[in-house]
Parts: sequence; structure tokens; C-alpha cells
Amino acid sequence: MENLDSFETDKKICMHYEDDRERFEGAVVPPIFQNTLFTYQTFDILTDALQSEHSYYVYGRGTNPTVEIVEKKLAALERGDECKLFSSGMAAVSASLINSVKSGDHVLCVSNLYYSTMELLKYLGKFNISHSVIYSTKTDDIKAALQPNTRVIFLESPTDMTFRLVNLDEIADLARKNGIRTIIDNTWATPLFQKPLTKGIDVVVHSASKYLGGHSDVLGGAVVTSKEIMKTIFKKEYLLMGAAMPPNEASLLLRGLRTLPFRMQGHQDNALKVARFLHNHPAVEKVNFPGLETHPDYHLGTNQLSGYSGLMSIELKQDDFNHVKTVINKMKIFKIGVSWGSFESLIISPNLGNNEGKLVKEHISPGTIRLAVGLENANSIIDDLEQALSE
Ligand SMILES: *Cc1c(COP(=O)(O)O)cnc(C)c1O
Repeated sequence: MENLDSFETDKKICMHYEDDRERFEGAVVPPIFQNTLFTYQTFDILTDALQSEHSYYVYGRGTNPTVEIVEKKLAALERGDECKLFSSGMAAVSASLINSVKSGDHVLCVSNLYYSTMELLKYLGKFNISHSVIYSTKTDDIKAALQPNTRVIFLESPTDMTFRLVNLDEIADLARKNGIRTIIDNTWATPLFQKPLTKGIDVVVHSASKYLGGHSDVLGGAVVTSKEIMKTIFKKEYLLMGAAMPPNEASLLLRGLRTLPFRMQGHQDNALKVARFLHNHPAVEKVNFPGLETHPDYHLGTNQLSGYSGLMSIELKQDDFNHVKTVINKMKIFKIGVSWGSFESLIISPNLGNNEGKLVKEHISPGTIRLAVGLENANSIIDDLEQALSE
């Protein structure tokens, strides 16, 4: 695999890696192990297995062969030691965060994060875990925002809704020097377009409900990290909080992964065309998409991203809620709904008509509309936007 470029290597991983057909009677698709437990020939072997449940099949809350194949693929795609799959992205976010902090610790959030991640951090206040947000992606500002008890820097790059990039090399270096763990939510880029562990980030989390699954039919999450960190996550957060990925969901995810490289190329091609169209549209104040050469972080992106996925936002010139609502309601190809990362184009706004003050505090324009560009015909998508944006 070493001789292939990264994208071709990743294609190979998605297609065949760890499918281990000989082990399963040559089955071209690995079977779904629909069993909760594994029995042992002797009690002695079981007692050994229970000593290191991570490396044996004992009970489905810990390990399952179908789930394990997908875990191995994702670990390989991220160039990480190990992956564990969870029943949702938030289960993965919760496990990685709770593993990293104790009472009295502080978490620094870099600019805008996924809504539920922020809600979780607020909830963790009840255990005397504090957090703060630095609304800047500049390394110097992030450094100045560190507190003596900061134990975790949590980031998304691009940032949620505003799509600014964070310099992964610099943040990893800053954190290492201060004994701080870095966690990145890499859902937007997928491991195909960004490999944060190779930049020195400690923990990668994913919502597999987005591009990894890719068909809006499976909820899941993943944590990819070093052997040492995974050892404690498995023993504590995985086994004790119990949000394991079920084998049926793993098999859907496995199917989604087969076509991930092709789908991501499709999302990228469509998103670039859509972003260029919107950039020149008179009703649009700003397009937040790091694939545009005019984006403030475009050059940083060329150093840490190998592609761009299909999620972006625009800021309307006329930024009141009524106008946002009118544009969204006119859409035909874009469906109105939460989530993203699948074959279908989706549209939503963070402006819910009752939260403009909060948005302004979070440096998000009230005229923001988020677009998940799907795999439909690019010209049809652009025509849909054109008719919705016209007066
Ligand atoms: C959807 C999402 C999550 C949460 O994932 P679920 O699978 O819905 O629990 C986390 N981070 C990002 C960036 C997301 O888009």
C-alpha cells in the first residue's frame, strides 16, 4: 500500500481491507454477527478472555466481529492505531470528552462547535468541568485563551456554521507543550480529506451518521486514537456507558464505506460548482466554503485538507428571519431538514426566528443558511438555488 498515493490507498481500505473473506467461507460481504455473546470451550479460556476483553469476543457491548471490520477500516483510513464505533456521533463525542477530564478541569473550544457538543459541555458543568469558547481560529488567540486548568482543546476544522480552518500543526504543537489533549471532530472532512492524527492531534471523533454512512439510514459514531488512550476509553466509557454500535448498523456502515471515495469526489465537484455560483450571486453577502480561492483560510487548507466535502453556508445580504425563511421555503431539490452528509441535498438555517441575539454572540450572521450539497445534477442544484434566491 505504501507505493500508492493516499487517495488510492484509502480506496483500497474502503473496498477490501480487513474483509478477511477466507475467515468467512469466502463470503464477498462479511456476515452480520447477530449474537450478543460468545461461548467458550472451557471456563479457563473465558477467564483469560475477560482479562483483556478488548482483544477477545466476549460480549456485544464490547466487541463484535462485524463491527470490528469497520473499526479496522476507519483506523486505517485515519492512520490511527485503533477505532471504536459507537451508537451515535454524540456517544463518541461524550466518551472522548469524559475520558479526558475530571472535576476541576477546563475545556477550551475553538470557535463554533456542533450544537450538541456545546450542550454536553454546558451539562458537564454539573461535575465541575468548565469550558470556554475562543471565537478566533488564530493560534496566538487560542494560546492566550488557555487557562492553568485547561486539559482539552476541542475543535472542528472547518468550524461549525462559519467554516473557518484551524491550523492543526500549530494547535497540536501548542497542546503538546502544555500537556493538553486535543480532540477534533473530523466529520466534515471525513478521513479521506483530512487525517488529523498525522498532524499530531490526539483524538479524532466522527459522526458516522453523515458521510461515512452516506445514505441517511444509519446512526453511528467513531473514536480513532492511540492504543494507550483507547485502552482506557474501551474499559471505561465504552463498556460502562454502553453506547456500542449494533452489528446491523455496522454492516450498513460497511456498505456505505465501499463507495465513500466516489461519493466524496461527487460532493466535492458539486460543492465547488455551487460555491462558485453563490460567490457571484448578488443576493449573497458571503459564501463560507474553504474550497473557494477567496476563502481566508484557502492556503492553510491546501496544507491540511486533500479535498472539500459538500457542506457550506451562505450569508444573505438581506439577513432578516423572514427573508431566510422565504428562501428556504422556495427550495425544491434541497429538502428542509437537519443532518447532512448523505446523497440528498439539504437546507437549514441556524436562525430559528427566536435566537438572533445568541447567533450574534456566536459570530454567526442571522442571514446564514447552511447547504448540504448532495449528489444530484450540479446544474439542477444551481437552478434550484437561482430560483429561490431571485426576488
Ligand atoms: C451530526 C454531528 C454530530 C453528532 O452525530 P450524531 O450521529 O447525530 O450523534 C457531531 N458532530 C458533527 C460535526 C455533526 O455534524
